[in-house]
Amino acid sequence: MPVAKLTYADLANPAIHRQPVYEPGRPIDVVAREFGLDPKETIKLASNENPLGASPMALAAVRDFLNQTHLYPDGGCYLLREKLAQKLGLTPDQFVFGNGSNEVIELVGHAFLMPQDEVVMGEQAFIVFKLITLLFGATPVEVPLRNFTHDLKAMGEAITEKTKLVFLPSPNNPTGTINEPAEVLDFARSLPEHVIFGLDEAYCEYLDDPVDLCPLLAEGRKIICFRTFSKIYGLAGFRLGYGYCGADCASLLNRVREPFNVNSLAQAAALAALDDHPFVEQSREVNRAGLRDLSGFCQNFKLDYIPSHGNFMLIKVGNGREVFRKLQKVGVIVRPMEPYGLPEYVRISVGRKAENARLCRELHNVLGLS
Ligand SMILES: *Cc1c(COP(=O)(O)O)cnc(C)c1O
Repeated sequence: MPVAKLTYADLANPAIHRQPVYEPGRPIDVVAREFGLDPKETIKLASNENPLGASPMALAAVRDFLNQTHLYPDGGCYLLREKLAQKLGLTPDQFVFGNGSNEVIELVGHAFLMPQDEVVMGEQAFIVFKLITLLFGATPVEVPLRNFTHDLKAMGEAITEKTKLVFLPSPNNPTGTINEPAEVLDFARSLPEHVIFGLDEAYCEYLDDPVDLCPLLAEGRKIICFRTFSKIYGLAGFRLGYGYCGADCASLLNRVREPFNVNSLAQAAALAALDDHPFVEQSREVNRAGLRDLSGFCQNFKLDYIPSHGNFMLIKVGNGREVFRKLQKVGVIVRPMEPYGLPEYVRISVGRKAENARLCRELHNVLGLS
């Protein structure tokens, strides 16, 4: 037998070779091990997680559910679907659930994207839109932001007959900027019939005045909204997100998912978290205070930052990658931003008061501020 000259790379779907690799926030244990740090003294402000932990009501529900984990989950997320339908004033058949809202975005790719399609998105938008677009061999059309904010006029102008989807995260990650509700509604109304509007609402619970696209859904417009339990509900590790859209769209999306893509503990947690109003309120408050502390620090030391509507903030530090490395060495994990084309910035997730103070102290040292 001759030694094979054909490699796995030769056999791979050619689209895979162009696929960028996602760089996640680094886990505490991994960083602690690498730098010989005490994991208890290491803080992670890198993935926009809830610094208060998980919703206590969600955790209690999970404990109660542990004795049922030998059973397959409800593949249709019946209870969660009913509850969310009621909460949002929609019908249960307008939902699709995923292993994180990232999976729901991928389901949209499965159901709708073909290689000839274009997908319009912001240049510094949440990177998963681009990853999913490339994964299905479609073409990302990246529209520059204006003042770190999605430029809806320019995005409208970027739409062609080939456009299948346009994505808007508001607030956007990593910039933390929003588009005003009225502007988003106008944009959604302006789109031609062959374009699906994907609104990513991962941080909408932090907003005082979130946009509501349900009336437009009722008009039959092509809209999919993405939400997640990873952020304000503090359930990132459970992996649960959902999309809501027209029932005809949801039916297509449900066709392309795996039968048991959302595990039963995540479903139990999410169901309870929706009732944990005190936790959500406290999370909003801690976040508001944290944003004030972080922006106050930046103002004191004349660091540029982007005012944020999310639970994170971009700070201009010079060499973002180097500052990320130096902070990591002293046990503070943040996120470098050159994968987003913002090499001078780091993204800081808002922590608890003491964590924010620690970040500010270490950043002060690392940057040699006086
Ligand atoms: C964090 C985040 C999500 C949530 O992803 P999950 O897969 O639900 O954890 C979605 N969109 C944006 C813009 C985010 O920042």
